[in-house]
Amino acid sequence: EFGEITIKEIDQVAKSSFPLCMQHLYEKLKEDHHLKHGGRMQLGLFLKGVGLKLDDALAFWKAEFSQKVGSERFDKEYAYSIRHNYGKEGKRTDYTPYSCQKVISSTPGVGDNHGCPYRHFSEENLRAALGKLGVSYRAVEEVMDKVRNRHYQLACSLTFEAVHGSSCDAGINHPNQYFSDSQKILQ
Ligand code: SF4
Repeated sequence: EFGEITIKEIDQVAKSSFPLCMQHLYEKLKEDHHLKHGGRMQLGLFLKGVGLKLDDALAFWKAEFSQKVGSERFDKEYAYSIRHNYGKEGKRTDYTPYSCQKVISSTPGVGDNHGCPYRHFSEENLRAALGKLGVSYRAVEEVMDKVRNRHYQLACSLTFEAVHGSSCDAGINHPNQYFSDSQKILQ
């Protein structure tokens, strides 16, 4: 597993090593200074898996949410669930980050930003997101072909290969695996 990641490093690794599902949540959080419950869970547990420690996680979420709801309301309404994700509240279960299967089978509603972009984005939005990642026209067509056949994780693997210029033989089955495979290549 990966050691640790600090708040300062998140911006950079979000761009270089987050899979699309987490990049999308991360960007929405920065844009809106808010995420609904499903998004907070999906991104929060992923960040925990990436190695963000509890104190840093609290500071990270507070920096965004306090811009929207104020720091008092953050402490009152949101800090608990972050500590909860780290097993510090309630039953003290240590919650594990979501697998691709779990993300893909989620059912985001209006205003939600969680889920898997290959499964839940419109074709137009997915093409735009892939374009922003710098995926070539040809590779985008290959990704869209996998999406049409409902092979979302294969679509994600092709994106990984296009972005990193390196093969992804094991495929993608977990957002945190996408991250660690990416870091192995980039470091
Ligand atoms: Fe995220 Fe997995 Fe979907 Fe890739 S296939 S975007 S890692 S949920």
